[in-house]
Amino acid sequence: MATFVDRVVLHLQAGNGGHGCVSILREKFKPFGGPDGGNGGHGGGILLVVDPAVHTLLDFHFRPHLKAPNGGGGAGGNRDGAKGQDLILKVPNGTVVLSPEGEVLADLVGVGTTFEAARGGRGGRGNAALASSRRKAPGFAELGEPGDQIDVVVELKSVADVGLVGFPSAGKSSLISVISAAKPKIADYPFTTLVPNLGVVQAGESTFTVADVPGLIPGAATGKGLGLEFLRHIERTSVLVHVVDTATLEPGRDPLADIDALEAELSAYGGLEDRPRLVALNKVDIPDGQDLADIVRPDLEARGYEVYDISTATREGLKELVYAMSRLVIEHRLATPILEPTRIVLRPQAVDDSGFTVRQDDEGVYVVVGAKPERWVRQTNFANDEAVGYLADRLARLGVEAALAKAGAEPGAPVRIATHEFDWQPTVYAGDDYVPGNRGTDIRLDQKSSRTPTADRLAMRKARRVRAEGDTAGDFEPDEHTWGVTDTVGDDEDE
Ligand code: GDP
Ligand code: MG
Repeated sequence: MATFVDRVVLHLQAGNGGHGCVSILREKFKPFGGPDGGNGGHGGGILLVVDPAVHTLLDFHFRPHLKAPNGGGGAGGNRDGAKGQDLILKVPNGTVVLSPEGEVLADLVGVGTTFEAARGGRGGRGNAALASSRRKAPGFAELGEPGDQIDVVVELKSVADVGLVGFPSAGKSSLISVISAAKPKIADYPFTTLVPNLGVVQAGESTFTVADVPGLIPGAATGKGLGLEFLRHIERTSVLVHVVDTATLEPGRDPLADIDALEAELSAYGGLEDRPRLVALNKVDIPDGQDLADIVRPDLEARGYEVYDISTATREGLKELVYAMSRLVIEHRLATPILEPTRIVLRPQAVDDSGFTVRQDDEGVYVVVGAKPERWVRQTNFANDEAVGYLADRLARLGVEAALAKAGAEPGAPVRIATHEFDWQPTVYAGDDYVPGNRGTDIRLDQKSSRTPTADRLAMRKARRVRAEGDTAGDFEPDEHTWGVTDTVGDDEDE
């Protein structure tokens, strides 16, 4: 069965995550307000969802560039940014999603089947969420991650809803060109000379496809010319339209004889009897054509045909014809059983984000590859020393530093993670006994605290001492006089 392929390349941009916020609560009688910067919202993703009311990829031909909204930035007062709403793209049942290289990513069958084609970026954590008992008041926040920017190909292998039959030069190709909004690609045809024309037609709320059937001439059903191939092509159409030339000067041709001849071919081929038919009397812009149309109309109507006078040249009568096609297509769709509702959500294969690798490239640069380190780099505001320090701590804790050392990296060696390249400055990291220096403490709070030799400072010292004595930081209950920060040691592990 020959099929055509409705095919569009979609350019998708998922929403970026909002940046986390750096904020310190300042209240008149509470000198140590503590960090209260909220988290950025996640960016919106882009989802393809099978919708029973959608039958073509027409909308995407007009709008192939699609963008989901960004997440909002976090704000002070622990206000989190709004999440960017997911962009839902309705696609027909049977839509296949491919990579630009042609790899099949998903085959969307069943109403509600959903494919997450582009993921929104994660929102960055604000400094409130980044605070821990080790890092009381971070003077930095995470950046939001960029959303996926990705091209995918959507394809719908299909047959036309409406088949146009008619003698050569009746005006089939002309008709498609004046009523169609887009021309999908024709595939799977072994011919180079005769290719069916195909168009996507929009009539009010409905869209449907129309194909002409060239080469359907007397004798086609017995294999004459290429008729059989094209008859197969219309086997699954739901409506047939006779396009009749009312202005032909060829001897022996008139609308009734033409329709009889082609009907004889259709019945010789068989199986098409139940398709509703319309008759389009074309070329009525020519006076003789209009006269002939007026003469044959009663006969055709007496045979039970709906008859439309049209001119592809002046566009007369096209609207009425298109709405008649649309009505019959919708009737056919309603009579077709609805698809099994399913609600499978398909996602691109999950990447293993647990590990990382270190290797040295040809130029001697140590390249760290891994989902976590790469994400952390993207979340880092490199203009903020404290944020860079935090990144170094995270990398050290994950074992990246140790792996670099093991790979032979010397201090100052060039290291690349994701798009960032920097000189490696190993941090001294001592596991549970690790005591941060100034890093992790907002400078503004330092200034305040030095002017406030109160119980708060004592509590801080106690906290350091407790940790230095070997208690795990997680056991430390913040004194009510210290900043009311949730202890989030271990916060990096669940990302
Ligand atoms: P097909 O073989 O059925 O695809 O026919 P075409 O669409 O290629 O048309 C054949 C010829 O008829 C072309 O020269 C068209 O310009 C002409 N034609 C098609 N429609 C009209 C029409 O409405 N009025 C007139 N005057 N000529 C038409
Ligand atoms: Mg043609």
